[in-house]
Amino acid sequence: MANPSILILAGDGIGPEVMAEVKKIIGWYDAKRGITFDVSEDLVGGCAYDKHGTPLHDDTMAKAQDVDCVLLGAVGGPKYDSLDFSVKPERGLLRLRKEMDLYSNLRPAQCFDALADFSSLKKEVVAGLDIVIVRELTSGVYFGEPRGIFTEGNERVGINTQRYTESEIARVARSAFELARRRNNKVCSMEKANVMESGILWRQVVQEIHDKEYPDVELSHMYADAGAMQLCRWPKQFDVIVTDNLFGDLLSDAAAMLTGSLGMLPSASLGAPMANGRPKALYEPVHGSAPDIAGQGKANPIACILSFAMALRYSFDLGEEATRLEQAVEKVLADGVRTADLMGPEGGVPVSTSAMGDAIIAALDASL
Ligand code: NAD
Repeated sequence: MANPSILILAGDGIGPEVMAEVKKIIGWYDAKRGITFDVSEDLVGGCAYDKHGTPLHDDTMAKAQDVDCVLLGAVGGPKYDSLDFSVKPERGLLRLRKEMDLYSNLRPAQCFDALADFSSLKKEVVAGLDIVIVRELTSGVYFGEPRGIFTEGNERVGINTQRYTESEIARVARSAFELARRRNNKVCSMEKANVMESGILWRQVVQEIHDKEYPDVELSHMYADAGAMQLCRWPKQFDVIVTDNLFGDLLSDAAAMLTGSLGMLPSASLGAPMANGRPKALYEPVHGSAPDIAGQGKANPIACILSFAMALRYSFDLGEEATRLEQAVEKVLADGVRTADLMGPEGGVPVSTSAMGDAIIAALDASL
């Protein structure tokens, strides 16, 4: 049988620096666990524009459709800010998400005990937090028609349309229920059914999919504004939250910040199952290309490494190996190893990107 395949698109800025640490870890799995991935690499974002005049070449797009999953670093940078909108680095990422039809965006908010002091909330509220927000990614108000700025009478009017079909809601609901079954079996669906018809349909469809296909999973519904309050008040009440594109954008950013640094946050974007039964998938850190620290060996590679852990779990059914990697990260943090972004007021000497990767590999070695 062919080895599982990964396309690495490291991108711009700190993307290649943090991805270099993931490549070391992929090498570790090959050497120490006998798990071999067929890894190919290509360009996305500004570096692809520099070479091909487009942020994502058609050949790269075709490769992305052909592999078991894509691992992406980050795209963008000041050099590309004045480019036409159609060829900006971010368009490469948007094309990948759109053409792979990655409708389900998983954003975990996990608080490692060693970093609980970094949250703006009290330590007891966030220590041990482990929740996932599932955001619908390819429909809703960011895509609905009509949209635009029009003239009505003697003034302008800005219009966006929140539109969801039943099947769009059903597929992201299934994705959340499947995820909950691998976790603590609890889903909270958030919308504004009190003021939006699309919210009423959302609630009905999520409930129907639950009753027909996932009656074993505990389901609750919450208005998204109340959900935002509950996330700040007592986030540990949640396991999986499923919500639409707009509310998910807001709630996942708020939840992410419960846990501290941007350098720690992984994400997965999943689509429909492929012939092998696994979803189309793209894994990437939440952070951008961090031009202010690029090329200095200061970037925290953990978000990218935890994104690879998500790939192990969701694309390769290697949940135990994913847990091994997450525990290695936890151990390194508990031992006080910190990149510059994780330094508290007490100070200390930060380690480089590469030293953080090496420390995680040493912890993986120790796990055997
Ligand atoms: P950013 O996430 O790149 O950086 C924000 C701040 O967080 C910076 O101070 C940066 O140094 C720090 N930071 C980010 N990741 C870090 C890490 N791994 N370790 C340590 N510190 C880290 O956001 P920005 O500055 O708003 O955007 C920079 C560029 O990245 C822009 O061109 C933007 O369009 C692009 N961007 C890309 C993505 C993506 O590729 N998915 C996401 C967001 C922004």
